[in-house]
Amino acid sequence: MQIGFNKPAVLGNEFDYIKQAILNEKLSGGGPFTKRCQDYLSKHVGGAKTLLTTSCTDALEMAAILCNVKPGDQVILPSFTFVSTANAFVLRGAELVFIDSRADHPGMDERSLESVITERTKAIVPVHYAGVACQMDIIMDLAKKHDLFVIEDAAQAIDSTHRSSNGQVRQLGGIGDFGTFSFHETKNVHCGEGGAIIINNELSNERAEIIWEKGTNRSKFWRGEIDKYGWVDIGSSFLPSELNAAYLAAQIEEMTAIQNKRRKIWNLYAEGLKGLFDNNLVRGPHIPDYASNNAHMFYLVTDSLAQRDALITHLKAKDIQAVFHYQSLHRSAFFQERYIGPELHRSDLYAERLVRLPFYYELTEPQVAFVIEHVCAFYDSRN
Ligand SMILES: *Cc1c(COP(=O)(O)O)cnc(C)c1O
Repeated sequence: MQIGFNKPAVLGNEFDYIKQAILNEKLSGGGPFTKRCQDYLSKHVGGAKTLLTTSCTDALEMAAILCNVKPGDQVILPSFTFVSTANAFVLRGAELVFIDSRADHPGMDERSLESVITERTKAIVPVHYAGVACQMDIIMDLAKKHDLFVIEDAAQAIDSTHRSSNGQVRQLGGIGDFGTFSFHETKNVHCGEGGAIIINNELSNERAEIIWEKGTNRSKFWRGEIDKYGWVDIGSSFLPSELNAAYLAAQIEEMTAIQNKRRKIWNLYAEGLKGLFDNNLVRGPHIPDYASNNAHMFYLVTDSLAQRDALITHLKAKDIQAVFHYQSLHRSAFFQERYIGPELHRSDLYAERLVRLPFYYELTEPQVAFVIEHVCAFYDSRN
């Protein structure tokens, strides 16, 4: 039995919708499938406006432009994240301020945020790792107090929620000024490469559309609000083709089916590996009580780098592909020379010890059982 780490989901209607997009004779961005996805996402996430993008990377770059991040500004983000969380702001000349992960979870340690805020701080970028919410109450309070933008990197967090201390439950990506999603093929809902920006900050609605359309007011022109369009701001080509949007529309329609299936897989892993967790042989994922679980990922936190590598090798020998994840950005080849902050031990710990197990829509129960069997065998053999 060969079990890869990921396999892009196909629910069925993707083929029909792509065909329909071709027959519509409108394949550039902003067509009916794009609108369908945007409307759905605005409603689902509870944002004022959504624009589809060609990636979450693009959505983050748009957010950085919309916040007017400029040289000298500081942006706070976790070190344990994907490069795009950082690059989007580096491209605008920002100074990055990396913070550490939590002890119980790879997400950013919200309690260390306030001590790094200065008069130059412009934005906080919480990353909802594994689709598990950062503690948004703390982050939003600090942002309000210090007048900062909040950009949620919700790349992995579709259909996941945060519960505030007042009991209010909200979708991730719809809480900060901006939320960014990824529809890369490794994410729960995908179109190969794709993304979206949710704009909750109403002042940015019109400017977002302009930046999205190469710095022109073409969207207004299409709606008949102006009689010619031109260059009015900076921008780029952030909008995806209708072919991508057609694929995504088919996935979004089946979101409930996708999520039910993924939650089932997640629960199978959690039950099957419970003995290892209870005996402290390895740590499993932690979902804090203010967060929900969108079953994006099932990860283990091993005892050491050596144990992580041994586990990956052991599984590989059984044709099971398990993988490690982010390497601390403050230690990257690009950044380490300019990093002047404190040690970020927990980020380094997750970089060294975290292992992700195969996780995708089509994973079958026998396959999950096979992975569980061999993870257990690995720990049994070491006892
Ligand atoms: C996947 C991911 C991204 C990048 O998404 P793309 O759509 O590939 O650009 C950014 N941030 C995080 C946390 C991610 O997991």
